[in-house]
Amino acid sequence: MNERSVVVKNLAKSFGDFVAVDRVSFEVRAGEIFGLLGANGAGKTTTIRMLTGLLRPTSGGGTVGGWDINAQFEMIKKSIGYMSQRFSLYNDLTVKENLQFFGGVYGLGRARVEERTAELDEALGLGEWLDRRTAALPLGFKQRLALGAAILHKPAIVFLDEPTSGVDPIARRRFWELINALAADGVTIIVTTHYMDEAEYCNRLCVMHAAKIVSLGSPAELKARHGAHSIEDVFIQLVRGA
Ligand code: ATP
Repeated sequence: MNERSVVVKNLAKSFGDFVAVDRVSFEVRAGEIFGLLGANGAGKTTTIRMLTGLLRPTSGGGTVGGWDINAQFEMIKKSIGYMSQRFSLYNDLTVKENLQFFGGVYGLGRARVEERTAELDEALGLGEWLDRRTAALPLGFKQRLALGAAILHKPAIVFLDEPTSGVDPIARRRFWELINALAADGVTIIVTTHYMDEAEYCNRLCVMHAAKIVSLGSPAELKARHGAHSIEDVFIQLVRGA
């Protein structure tokens, strides 16, 4: 366990009688790209919300960056980046102003925010959009900006909940180049996706079905284990019981 790893043991969450996450256990290593797959309602977002300190587990626990998910929520929030499904950008602000706003949230000084904005501008290719209102951004750029806001403070672990949903294949490929660059720098990535081509880019995959983990391993391991040619086939088998 270190400041870049995630360890989850028997993590569970119920809403009343409904079990949304059922005794889930896994470990994510430093610099790994760990994909969470599952049909709508499988429990992926609920798992992520528990790991990001936003939701209290019903039972079980774990650590994120060495911090206890049942107790050290504030430390977790400071040491991670989180891009939620409905990323919380301010449409009325310019791209630069959004980054300044999130810099303030993370407690970064003005000079540091400017330095990081310049770095992110280069890494994310925001260029001509920096001084434009966020509302005017094409979705692919909005997603890049949301990633920029999530990594402004250089977190060791980043959670991405369906970061590429709804954009074209070129924008998705571009986004994955950014994810790979982050992982190459040692950042640990936990990502959910419904795109099976993206699943193949992950180092390891955790397939969830009806609140439980039904298979976990590298894309090659999962294909071999389930006698399938593609992750899509693995997924259909596990989730539909084909
Ligand atoms: P998707 O792919 O649609 O994002 P998911 O795998 O992320 O799905 P979750 O959002 O974790 O699924 O939801 C798991 C289940 O828990 C769903 O049936 C959802 O309706 C339920 N659920 C989530 N949050 C709550 C809540 N606050 N109260 C009651 N039920 C909830």
